[in-house]
Amino acid sequence: MREPVQWGLGVAAAALAGAAAYTVGAQAVAGGLRLGVVKRGPHRPMVSLTFDDGPDADHTPRILDALAAAGVRGAFFMVGRQAEFHPAVARAVAAAGHDIGNHTYGHRHLWTLGPGASAAEVDRGARAIADTIGVAPTYFRPPWGAFNWAAYARAAQIGETRVLWSVRSEGWLTASPAPQMAAYVVRAAHPGAIVNLHDRGGHPSTPEATGAALPQMIAGLRARGFEIVPLRVLLGPGA
Ligand SMILES: [Zn+2]
Repeated sequence: MREPVQWGLGVAAAALAGAAAYTVGAQAVAGGLRLGVVKRGPHRPMVSLTFDDGPDADHTPRILDALAAAGVRGAFFMVGRQAEFHPAVARAVAAAGHDIGNHTYGHRHLWTLGPGASAAEVDRGARAIADTIGVAPTYFRPPWGAFNWAAYARAAQIGETRVLWSVRSEGWLTASPAPQMAAYVVRAAHPGAIVNLHDRGGHPSTPEATGAALPQMIAGLRARGFEIVPLRVLLGPGA
């Protein structure tokens, strides 16, 4: 008969291994190997600007104005609950011709959720966005870019292309002033780049800085010869 302590350690080890496979394993496949996940587009002189965590009542309209003034369409990865809070803003994003992505319903870290709750976060996010704007989101990006297997599988099952990014100008916790943000994105951009930005969330100063950075960022990208296109153009049909 096995000792209870040994048995307990064995169960704990198995649970840890299972949890690691569920979270880090999914992340390795999604983020490292890029299997079934898009982090950049084909090698063409095009880049996409993508915005997470909105819609926000104040910052999203300003960002929409900055994009419209420059004639740029990007992608907005919405939090379902935020779309319910600010339906008019969500509809304005869609009406302006930007791509729409699902960023889950409540922006919870998927590594803290089991399979059922993870799939529900994906489903509820998609439904809340679709019910608000009238069109199902085309893309999926998990909060903090952190996949688990359940969300990875569920997003594909409901027809959402899984998208991370290849350029990110912000720290999670540190402020990125607008001039630095713009300069970094212009410098780090590459053919097919997917740029991660925020119209809400992140450091408290980030959404405002993002709006302020856009004119310089867009001008700098164009000066380097990049066309700024929505994801549907960057990735092409079938992505
Ligand atoms: Zn987010």
